[in-house]
Amino acid sequence: MNCPACGVRMSYNDETTKLTEFVCPRCHETIIEYKSRARMAP
Ligand SMILES: [Zn+2]
Repeated sequence: MNCPACGVRMSYNDETTKLTEFVCPRCHETIIEYKSRARMAP
């Protein structure tokens, strides 16, 4: 996944059973990607 702001390849920041969090090393944009079948809302 690339940063939507500057296009730099993002790195893993954190990962849980529900989501994966990416952070951009350049502008520190953070993207949270929710995993399928693990949505918060019913
Ligand atoms: Zn960025």
